[in-house]
Amino acid sequence: GQIIIGLDIGGTKTHGLLLVDGVPAGEAVSGSANVQNVAPAQAAANLAEIFTALGSVPANRVIAGSGGIDTADDADALRALISPHVPGAAVDVIHDTRLILAAGQTPAGIALIAGTGSVAWGLNPTGEEARCGGWGYLLGDEGSAYWMAREAVRHALRRFNLRQQPDELSAALLTACSVTDPEQLIALFHDTGTGRRYWASKASVVFDAATQGSAAGSEIVAAGARHLAGLAADTARLLDISGPVVVGGGLGMYQPLLRDRLRQDLERAGLTGIRFLEQDPVHGVRYLAAQDVQRG
Ligand code: BGC
Repeated sequence: GQIIIGLDIGGTKTHGLLLVDGVPAGEAVSGSANVQNVAPAQAAANLAEIFTALGSVPANRVIAGSGGIDTADDADALRALISPHVPGAAVDVIHDTRLILAAGQTPAGIALIAGTGSVAWGLNPTGEEARCGGWGYLLGDEGSAYWMAREAVRHALRRFNLRQQPDELSAALLTACSVTDPEQLIALFHDTGTGRRYWASKASVVFDAATQGSAAGSEIVAAGARHLAGLAADTARLLDISGPVVVGGGLGMYQPLLRDRLRQDLERAGLTGIRFLEQDPVHGVRYLAAQDVQRG
C-alpha cells in the first residue's frame, strides 16, 4: 500500500499524521521543529519523537508543511532533518500555508494563518501565487499570538510610564508571567529563557481579559484582526480573487473572539467564502496527495 506521513510544523508544535492508502492510521504531536525558531538539534529531537510515536513504518512519502520555509535552502535544511527517518521515501517540504489551503479542500483561494506567527498566501485558478506578511516575529507577524502578547506587554509598560495602576489586562499579564512590577517585564522580554513560544503562549491572557470586559484587551484583539484581514485582502487583490478564505493557526481556530472580529473585517474587505478550519491542518496532506494522483 501507499504509506504517507504528513507533518504540520508550526511555531509551537509539530503534528504528524500517518496515512495508509489515504486512511489515517496514527497521529502524534511534539514540540516545534520549525528551523526558523528552534535550534537544529531541538528540531531534530522533536521530529525524532514524532517518527518514533508513529512507529517504524516503511513510508513511501513525507509531505511536510512548515512555517519559515522561504527559500530552497530553508526547505533543504528541513528535508535533511526528516530524510534519515524515512530511508528511500520522497520528502516534499512545503510552506505551512499550502497545508491550510489543502485542509480547506479547495484548489484555489487564500490561506490565512493566525498562529504563533501570521501570514496570508493565495493561489488563483490560473495558478498564480501571492503572499503577504509572514516574515517571522522579529519583522512582522501582525495579529499572531506572539504579537498579541507583545502588544499587552507594551500596554502595561505605557501605563507604568504614565504612573497609572495596572489595569485588568496588565495585572493578568503580570500574574501569568510571575512578576510583580511592569518594569520587570522589560528584562523578562529580553531574557533568553522567554522566546517566541513563551510569549505566544501568553496571548490567551489578552483573550481572557477581553472576554472579561477589558477595553485594552479588546482593542488588541481588534487591531490584530484588522492586520490579519488586511493581509488577506492584499493577497486577494494581487490575485484578483475574493475567496474562499481558509483560516488556520491556533488563534484562528480556537479563539472565538478573534474569529468573530476577523470574519467581520474580512467581509467588510469584500472577501467571500470565509471558513475557519475545524480539523488540524495536517489533514490537508490527504488532499495534496490525492491531487498529485489525479495529476498523474
Ligand atoms: C513564519 C511564516 C509562517 C507564519 C505562520 C511566520 O512566523 O515566518 O513562514 O507561514 O509564521 O505560521
